[in-house]
Amino acid sequence: MKYTKEDIVRMVNEKDIEFVRLQFTDIFGQLKNVAVTRSQIQKVVNDQIMIDGSSIEGFTRIHESDQYLHPDLDTFAVLPWMPAERKTARLICNVYNPDGTPFVGDPRYVLRRALKRAQDLGYTFNVGPEMEFFLFETDERGLPTTRTADAASYFDMAPIDHGGDVRREICLMLEEMGFEIEASHHEVAEGQHEIDFKYADALTAADNISTFRMAVKTIAQSHGLHATFMPKPVFGINGSGMHVNMSLSKNGKNIFFDPEGEKGLSKEAYSFIAGVLEHVRGFAAITNPLVNSYKRLVPGYEAPCYLAWSASNRSALIRIPAARGNSTRVELRCPDPACNPYLALAVCLTAGLDGIEKGLTPPAEITENIFTMTEKERQAHGIASLPGNLLEAVELLEQDSIITEALGDHVLKSYTSGKRAEWDEYRTRVTDWERQRYMIVY
Ligand code: GLU
Ligand code: MG
Repeated sequence: MKYTKEDIVRMVNEKDIEFVRLQFTDIFGQLKNVAVTRSQIQKVVNDQIMIDGSSIEGFTRIHESDQYLHPDLDTFAVLPWMPAERKTARLICNVYNPDGTPFVGDPRYVLRRALKRAQDLGYTFNVGPEMEFFLFETDERGLPTTRTADAASYFDMAPIDHGGDVRREICLMLEEMGFEIEASHHEVAEGQHEIDFKYADALTAADNISTFRMAVKTIAQSHGLHATFMPKPVFGINGSGMHVNMSLSKNGKNIFFDPEGEKGLSKEAYSFIAGVLEHVRGFAAITNPLVNSYKRLVPGYEAPCYLAWSASNRSALIRIPAARGNSTRVELRCPDPACNPYLALAVCLTAGLDGIEKGLTPPAEITENIFTMTEKERQAHGIASLPGNLLEAVELLEQDSIITEALGDHVLKSYTSGKRAEWDEYRTRVTDWERQRYMIVY
C-alpha cells in the first residue's frame, strides 16, 4: 500500500488506533520496537521520534547514541492479535543519524543500498521465501519443550496434524495484515510446519519475513504452544529452512526467462546462479547465522551441504523450479529462518549481481543425488561444500571482499565480533554427547 503522512494520521484517528509501534531490526535480526500513543502521531510521521541506540546489539557507541526513526509509511498495518478496541498499529522504520544521514548499522539500510545497485541497472529484485518452523508444547512454567503431540508428516491432515488450527489462525491474521498466503502445510518432521506467502520486492519480502516470525510466535503462544525458527531443534529429524526464491525483473518482465535459452533460462539467470555459487561460502555466516545452523546443513535431511545447481534435484544448493514465464526463479536452499532477513537478501542479491556484472557461467548442472556420492565422486565433479561450522563461515565471510563491502565496515565488524563470541561460548561447553561418549570408556 502507498500511504501519505495525512493518510496515516487520518487512519490512526478514524480507526480507533491508540498505540503505534515503531519497529526496527538489530544487526542479528531481532525485531525491536518503541510504542508511542496517538498523541505523538505528528512527530511519528515527521521523523521526530528518537531512540537511544547505545544498548541495541550492533548499533552505536555510547557517545553517539541518539538516532531517529523514519517510518516507512507504506508498512502501516494494524496488529490483528492485539485488542480490537484502542488498537495497536505498527510502522517499520529506517534508522537515521541526528545529521539526517542514514545510520550505517541499520540492516534495512544495508538492503536498501544493495537494492539501489540493482535499480541503477534497471532491475527489481523479487523474493519469495518458504518459511519452515516447529510448534512445540510448553511446560507448566510456559517454557518451551521439544515435545509435540503431533505425529504427522509431509502434507498430513487433522486429526494427525495438531498444528492445523494454529496454522489457520496465522494465515487469517496475516491476511488481515495484507499478506497473500499461497499455501500452508505440515512439513516432513513431527511438529514442523511451513507457510508460504506471495513473493514481493526484496524490501517488502524482508519486512514480511520479520512480521511473519513475530506473528507465528505470538499466535502459537496464544494456543499454549511455542513456535521456533531455530534451524535444527531436534537431532535426527529434518531442520527448518528458509528457501529463498529469487528473480530479477526489468520493466515488469522477468529477465531470468528466455524461451530460446537452455532450459528456458536467460544468460542473466545463469550468471546470477554462478555469482551465488561463487559467494555462498562467503555469505553463509549471514544466511546461516547460528552455531546450530550448521547442524541442519548435513546430508540426509533435505537441506543442502554441497555447492551445485540443478533443475530438478532437491539435494542441490540451488534448484530451478519448473515454472517458467514470469514465475521463472532461482531457489536457494541453504538460508535458514533464524537469519537477519535484510542482510540475507542483501548478500544474495550482491552475489547474483556480481555474477551478472562479471558475466560468470556456472558449472554444469548436477542431476545425480549428491548425498549418495562419495567424496571422490564429488571431487571429480568439482563440487565444494558449504562451511562446516559457524567459525569457518565467519572466516570465509571476512575473506569475501564483495560481500564484506556490501555489508559495510560497521555491520561487518559488529556482526563478526558477535559471532566469534558466540562460537567461543559454544566451543568451551561440555555437552551430553561428550559425557555419553567418553565418561565410561575413559
Ligand atoms: N526442511 C528442509 C530444509 O531444511 C526442506 C524441506 C523441503 O524441501 O521443503 O531445508
Ligand atoms: Mg519445505
